[in-house]
Order: sequence, then structure tokens, then C-alpha cells
Amino acid sequence: MSKALGLLSGGLDSSLAALTLKRQGVDVTGIVFVTPFFGAARARQAARQIDIPLIVEEIGEIHLDVLKNPRYGYGKNLNPCIDCHALMFQLAARHVFNGDFDFLFSGEVLGQRPMSQNYNALQAVAKHAGCADIILRPLCARLLPETPMEKQGLVDREKLLDIQGRSRKRQEAYARQWGLTDYPGSGGGCLLTEKSFTGKLRDLLDHQPDCTVHDVELLKLGRQFRLSPAAKLTLGRNQEGNEALQAALRPGYTLLHATGYRGPTGLVSGHPSETDLAMAAAIVAGYGKGRDEASVRVRLQKNGDERFLDIAPMSQDRCTLLQVV
Ligand code: SF4
Repeated sequence: MSKALGLLSGGLDSSLAALTLKRQGVDVTGIVFVTPFFGAARARQAARQIDIPLIVEEIGEIHLDVLKNPRYGYGKNLNPCIDCHALMFQLAARHVFNGDFDFLFSGEVLGQRPMSQNYNALQAVAKHAGCADIILRPLCARLLPETPMEKQGLVDREKLLDIQGRSRKRQEAYARQWGLTDYPGSGGGCLLTEKSFTGKLRDLLDHQPDCTVHDVELLKLGRQFRLSPAAKLTLGRNQEGNEALQAALRPGYTLLHATGYRGPTGLVSGHPSETDLAMAAAIVAGYGKGRDEASVRVRLQKNGDERFLDIAPMSQDRCTLLQVV
């Protein structure tokens, strides 16, 4: 029995691709990658439903490097889909090259997405990943040249599919036929395709090209304020956000909280000057219960030290001007 490892996003297409192979007797395993922009929850659910094992790998740093400088550019937002797919294939291919699996597969459908799933893009992904000869696309394989896996008899080409185009009708029909009832709609699941997130990410990449996964994670934890080209404030929106920011404190970051008044926690990242920190303290005070006072004392914690700043709270209008949306 041949063994295949498939990129499992948790969407319908990758589940159907896995089932297409499983139903012809291939031993199928899924693999999913985790970054600040997408996680493994949907893939875990899909793997349970189609009853296949799942490998979960954390690739935040290496994916961020690709995101900062994608060879094939971005899609509609900040989604470097061709490079991202190629990276996933490249990482998955290591499991084939070390002998654990015979080949890779994915749920790509020819012509489904204008940027990432036209014929040239599929070829670019495979070539860029350096493993073109071991990638099978079960949903549209019969529209593509025969692969070495088909020639060697590891899979039966006659039992592979010939789906193409943007319509979901054939996938939905197969899902019904094969008893796949619970799957997420197409799209979603990747923050890089969401306009509301990519504005904040673009601001970070523009101002802090050396940003890390930790800096990216802050974008998800609260309101963002650009203090200067070198520094940024993240402000908690609620108790949960405040606690998340406290947990995100690490060397180089400054945690701020007004003393004597209830209000949000702030976290300054980047390379702040004293002026930046004073501005951050004024914003933290401006969002707290002491916003109408002439002066509020704000505690600053950094690298295990703490100090206090007495500061006039910033008005909401001025805060709004600094907010990154
Ligand atoms: S949508 Fe997101 S996860 Fe999917 S290929 Fe594009 S960048 Fe990667």
C-alpha cells in the first residue's frame, strides 16, 4: 500500500483530496502548519471527520521570512499564496525524502483561484518547492500531465478526478456522496486574506522590517497605535486582552498601566524613545477611568525594572489620530 502525506487545511477540497486517495486504498496522513496567521483547528476537525492521522508543525518564523519578501508577490491583501504553498510543500517534502511517505498531495483545483491555482501557478509552486515530481493533485489530476506516482502505479489515475473552475458544485456532490457533512465554507481561516488585519500588518512590516513572530502576535491582542516610525503601542480592549498583553511581556517590551484608576494595559514594542514612552503613557491614561484628571500616574515595566510617569491623559480625538487601522 502506498503512503501519501497531504496538506490538510480543513477546507472541503483538501478533505476530498484525502478521501479520493483513501477510497482507492492509499494510506493517507494529513499535515498542517501553524503560524500567527492560521492555525490547526480546522484541520484537526477535518482529520477527525475523515479519520486520518494529522501532523501539526509550527513554522511561524520561517513563514514570516517568506511573508516579508515573497518571490511571487501578494494576492489581494498581504497573502503570499504561491510562496506560502511552496513553503508548505517544501516542508512536507522532507517527510517524503526521509522515507516516511511515498508522495505528497493537496486539494488544489485547476482554475479555482485566479492567483494561486491557475496552471502556471501550480507549476510555479511545484518548481519553487523543489519537489514537483512527488506532488499529486487528486481533485484535478486527470487534467494535468501524468505524474511519476501514476506511472509507477502508486495511485490509479482512473480513480482520480478532473474538477476545474470556480464552481463548488462537483465538490459538494462528492461530499454528499462520500458522507462528508460538516465542513467550513470556502475561504477564511487565514488572517493574511483579511483586509482589517493586513492594514496593521503592513504598518508593522513598513516600520519594523526586523519584526518577529512575537511582534506579529501583538497585532491580534488589541488596538494598535503608531507612536513614531520606531515604536508602537498595543492597548488591551478588555480584561482578556489586558491579560494577554501581560503574558506577552518579554525582554525589550515595555508594559504600561495607570495606577489608581481602572483602565487598559498597554505594551510598547519596537525601539521607543522617551518621547514615545510618554506618548504611550498618555494614551493608556486617556483610555482609563482617570481620563478627565489633569495628571495620572502610569507604571512602566521593562526588563524586570519598574518606574512611574506622571502624565496628562491624551484626548480621544488625538488618540484616534494615532491609531492604526
Ligand atoms: S491563504 Fe494564507 S495560508 Fe493559504 S496559501 Fe495564501 S497565505 Fe498561505
